[in-house]
Amino acid sequence: MARRKYVVGNWKMNGLKSALGEAEAIFAAAGQQSAVDVALCPPFTMVGALAALPKAVVGGQDCHAAQSGAYTGSVSAPMLVDSGARLVLVGHSERREGFAESDADVKAKAEAALAAGLNVILCCGEPLSVRESGDAIAFVLNQIEHSLPDAFDADRLAIAYEPIWAIGTGLVPTLNDVSAMHGALREALRGRVGGKADQMRLLYGGSVNGENAAELLSAGDVDGALVGGASLSAAKFNPIVDAAAALAG
Ligand code: PEP
Repeated sequence: MARRKYVVGNWKMNGLKSALGEAEAIFAAAGQQSAVDVALCPPFTMVGALAALPKAVVGGQDCHAAQSGAYTGSVSAPMLVDSGARLVLVGHSERREGFAESDADVKAKAEAALAAGLNVILCCGEPLSVRESGDAIAFVLNQIEHSLPDAFDADRLAIAYEPIWAIGTGLVPTLNDVSAMHGALREALRGRVGGKADQMRLLYGGSVNGENAAELLSAGDVDGALVGGASLSAAKFNPIVDAAAALAG
C-alpha cells in the first residue's frame, strides 16, 4: 500500500488566539486534499482551540513521559488527548539540545504517547559538525536505535529527519543527501521491525517552503514534511500541502 503524504506544521513557541484564523484557513484547504494528511502542532495553550476547528488534526510539540504527578510546567500525553490532540512530536532538536533530552528520554516520551493513544512523530537529525565530518548517517541511525519504542504500530509512528543546521536557516541538504539519509533510515527500520518499515512515513524537516517543497518531497523515501516557520501562515503553508498533493497524484 502506498504511503500517504503527510505535512505537519510545528508552530514552536508562536501563536496567540489571534492566529486561529491561519489555522482555520490551513485546515480548510487541507480538507480539500484527499491524498495528503495535514496536522498542526501549536503550543499547548492553543491545542484545544485548534482542535475545535473544522477538519482539524492537532498535535502537541512535546509531552512528559509520566501520566501525571509533581512535574511543574509539564504536560502529559493523556492531557494532550484530553485537549483534543491526536499526535505529538517527540525528540525535536530544540528539546534535545535546549532541554538536554537524551535518546532514553525521547523513547520514554514516545512510549507514553503511544500508550495514551497519540500518534508519534519522532524527530532526529545531526548538527553541522557531524554533517561536515561525514558521520551524519551513523549519528542519526544511532539516535533512532536508542529512541525508538520497543513496540509500536507502523501506522502510528513516523520519523522526521531534521538536520539541525537546516532548521530555520534557509539551508537545505542536497536531494542526494536527503535520499541517502531516508534510505538508510528505511533500511535500519526494516532491520528493526521488518516489512512494517515500508508502511512507516519518513518526513523531511528543515527550511521547507513553497518553493522547495516539490523537490524535497520527491526525494527517495521522503513521505512528507515537518515545517516550522512556513507553517505559521496559510499563505506559506498551503503551497507545501499543494506540492505534496500534486506528487500524490
Ligand atoms: C522545525 O523546527 O521542525 C523546522 C523544520 O523548522 P523550519 O521549517 O523553520 O526550518
